[in-house]
Amino acid sequence: MTEIAIERAEEYDASIIKEKLLYMFSLTSFPDVRGKSVLVKPNILSDAPKEKAITTHPEVLRALLKILREKGAKKVYVGDSPGIQGPAFNAKVSGIRDAVEKSGAEFVDFTKSSRTHSVYKNISIPMAKVLDEADVVISVAKFKTHQLMMQTGAVKNMFGLVPSLNKSPLHLKCPSVEEFSRLIVSIFKESHTDYAIIDGIIAMEGAGPANGTPRKVGLLISSRDAFAADYAMSCIMGYQKTDMPIFLEGEKEGLTDFKSYTYPALNPNNLVIRDFKRIESGKKSLFSALILPFFTRFLKVRKAKKRNAPLFQDNCVKCRRCIEICPAKALTKGESHPLIDENACIRCYCCHEMCPVNAIKVL
Ligand code: SF4
Ligand code: SF4
Repeated sequence: MTEIAIERAEEYDASIIKEKLLYMFSLTSFPDVRGKSVLVKPNILSDAPKEKAITTHPEVLRALLKILREKGAKKVYVGDSPGIQGPAFNAKVSGIRDAVEKSGAEFVDFTKSSRTHSVYKNISIPMAKVLDEADVVISVAKFKTHQLMMQTGAVKNMFGLVPSLNKSPLHLKCPSVEEFSRLIVSIFKESHTDYAIIDGIIAMEGAGPANGTPRKVGLLISSRDAFAADYAMSCIMGYQKTDMPIFLEGEKEGLTDFKSYTYPALNPNNLVIRDFKRIESGKKSLFSALILPFFTRFLKVRKAKKRNAPLFQDNCVKCRRCIEICPAKALTKGESHPLIDENACIRCYCCHEMCPVNAIKVL
């Protein structure tokens, strides 16, 4: 049986969250951390104010770190590595650094120390070295949409173990959602994640993972199985299992068993938010998958790529982050915003994810 605990939590109060988490842990076989080194991996996609719902909320971390200390963890590390990580990255803006330091845990910069793993198709991937020192690994994700993957939960969160700019070239190697899902699952497997928590008190809907809208969902989710926690989150967002190649890949790899899921507290099927602003799955209908390509080939009409290229808008502040991160080198400097070469663009949406002012739209 794979237990998935879902609890209501109305506000970011560390002492209330701590009680909720302890109850959820009692339902889901939380790992024994006594005398062990624990790596906690929150989502710090960018070090943004907590109100923007881009990062795991610091009060959730505060509650977890207190529990780990009380349960006798020997050493607790907390870290992440944003896609573009300037030298000033210190997780202070989000409040995460304060939560870490006050708990006596150690903040780890993944760019400072990594080692290479060969996890997928012999692609060498640097990953945070602290993984080697951790006996227990906990993914503490945010309840968020994702322009490419539709949702970014506890499994995708572990992509942050790959330091900073090492991430974007991997999009070029694995451009389709299916291939990228396989890559993420391989990285997740290498992380040996033992437990997953999802902060869904204030979630993000719409243009996630960085430029969506905060929305109160009022839920915490946890499980020993990160796929199971993500499945519950996706279900509440209104997705089906089959919308997500990442779930199918996890199942294929034997990392999760959908038939084993049980809900000892709330059931996600009773919590579906009908008007949650989701990212559409891009799944093709039978007509567009089989019949339309035949006619377009026949008529020698060049078919548009399945996903839309991003659109750049005039509120751009010319920070160049998108140009820097684009793995396909599809962006060049323009007058009022970067110019895109749509033929080169692989629709990975890294640019959208990194834009600090929401000047990039994906329709
Ligand atoms: S332009 Fe944006 S979506 Fe296209 S390849 Fe570059 S980063 Fe990815
Ligand atoms: S579109 Fe966004 S990320 Fe790109 S240069 Fe403009 S402000 Fe920066």
